[in-house]
Amino acid sequence: ELAKNLSSLQAFIDDLYSKYESLQDGVVANYIPELAKVDPELFAISIVNVNGEIYEVGDYQQLFTIQSISKVFVYGLALMDHGRDYILTRVGVEPTGDAFNAIVLDEQSKRPYNPMVNAGAIATTSLIKGSDATERLNRMLDMFQKYIGRDVFVDISVFTSERTTGHRNRAMAHLMLNFGMIDKPIDEALDLYFQQCAVMVNCHDLAVMAATLANKGVNPITNEQAIKSCYVKDILSVMYTCGMYNFAGEWAYKVGIPAKSGISGGIIAVVPDKMGIAVFSPRLDARGNSVRGVKVCEELSQRFGLHLFECS
Ligand code: GLU
Repeated sequence: ELAKNLSSLQAFIDDLYSKYESLQDGVVANYIPELAKVDPELFAISIVNVNGEIYEVGDYQQLFTIQSISKVFVYGLALMDHGRDYILTRVGVEPTGDAFNAIVLDEQSKRPYNPMVNAGAIATTSLIKGSDATERLNRMLDMFQKYIGRDVFVDISVFTSERTTGHRNRAMAHLMLNFGMIDKPIDEALDLYFQQCAVMVNCHDLAVMAATLANKGVNPITNEQAIKSCYVKDILSVMYTCGMYNFAGEWAYKVGIPAKSGISGGIIAVVPDKMGIAVFSPRLDARGNSVRGVKVCEELSQRFGLHLFECS
């Protein structure tokens, strides 16, 4: 049934694009001037299925910084570097209900709550293996490259801007250093975290990355294995419970697919064994999710019955 429906997928996303193109609710992220410069009208929808078929519309070639969507993939790299048991001692898997940038750790364990909030992401990034900062950055870029299928680079202006203004993230890193949850020089961990947030992607890339997770870790376009399939389960679980900021519960209830959004206006959603979905539109709602992105995903889920617990 889905296969039949998919033939109408291009027409459906074309319609969604026209329907929401005029929606101007929300505001562009402005915590750093570099992000506030973006054209708020940009809008793209991309879908890549596990057979590598592509459906897309709008500004899907427009590059932007990946921001928090990077957390998903870096978590995967940390899992490959250290295994599940060790990573669990350093970063929990519990949704917070707090803001993504809350300065809070689990009372008992002193771990950050989960790898999708900033504290957890910084802790995760600090675990990436490599003999020095350059090797760690290169390993991270290699990892992104496998998911995307082309060379990736970091936007230096965004990186520099994050680094000079990132006092809150620095405070979290200090707190975790205090509790032994980070045991490396925090400046290196923070630099790598700011670099991962400033990796440039477009909406098409994000859909390929999501499709790779949908396809058990194998990029459906290049057939390259980007992540061991056994870790895809861990990644999708935290995306499902923690991926959409303070909207994660409502999203799981309504849309029902693992997803992650970022402050630059991207959202990825993963329909296991079927497809990866990406939407890009920079205006955000009060929780930090792309306004048009949420609408588009809600409609796609409903129209094609994508909710994981859909009644047939
Ligand atoms: N670079 C941003 C920060 O660490 C990422 C925020 C986000 O996309 O949620 O504050």
